[in-house]
Amino acid sequence: MTLTVDELSVEHSARNSFGRWKRLMPLEATSPSYSRVEKLFNKGWKHREKAKPRVYAVFKVISPEGTLKPYIDYRSMVQASPSIKTLGKTDVESLLFHGTKRACLLGENINNLRLCALKKCSVCSIIRSSFDIEKCGSKHKFTRFGKGIYMTSCSSKADDYSSNGSGDAGFRVLLVGRVVVGKALKRRTNATDLTELPCGYHSLIGEPGEDLKFQEHVVYNNDAVRPAYLVVYGHAPENDSKFKAMISTLFNTPIAS
Ligand SMILES: [Zn+2]
Repeated sequence: MTLTVDELSVEHSARNSFGRWKRLMPLEATSPSYSRVEKLFNKGWKHREKAKPRVYAVFKVISPEGTLKPYIDYRSMVQASPSIKTLGKTDVESLLFHGTKRACLLGENINNLRLCALKKCSVCSIIRSSFDIEKCGSKHKFTRFGKGIYMTSCSSKADDYSSNGSGDAGFRVLLVGRVVVGKALKRRTNATDLTELPCGYHSLIGEPGEDLKFQEHVVYNNDAVRPAYLVVYGHAPENDSKFKAMISTLFNTPIAS
């Protein structure tokens, strides 16, 4: 069986002599993907009351082709759907943030790239098996637009849901997902009982205004999203030599003082 090779597949990476077991690939700060994610992170930091942190690293999430194939098939189906053709849209996919619990120290430095097996580690679980609608609402009881997978272009909002389980964590992390947004239903008011979208729509966008302060995107199909990147970010307190030493050893990148 020949699968569609995707740049985020293990099989593609293996050809570039990247180990098949590795699920996170560090990106050079000068690479176009790093710049794209960093720009989205900075642009999406909308909470004025929260000081804007700095991006310290971006990892590409590598997945087996068997995991990516249903996503790529779904994306193709949406791309070919009548409602997208009517809209004249050429790109149905967006990169969006998702904040969740990291129980381990994944991404904390170049030696922490193996996924953990801790039950409470949602970051590793999502990188291993992607997002799962069934887990929606398991941590946060209120689901504004019903049972779905919640993503946002607002990095500072995703940051509200990001948490570290380890006291040794010096950074924070956010997942960045590839999301088939397609034709989006826009809503300004809550719809907590929603489980599916009207015919012809592929996602929901909650727009700021009445019930919502910051934009969020919801998809109701597990194959409409896959993890694509992990962003490592944080604040470097001035004159904190321990923090600076940790940063300078991260990817052996010298940090300007
Ligand atoms: Zn973990």
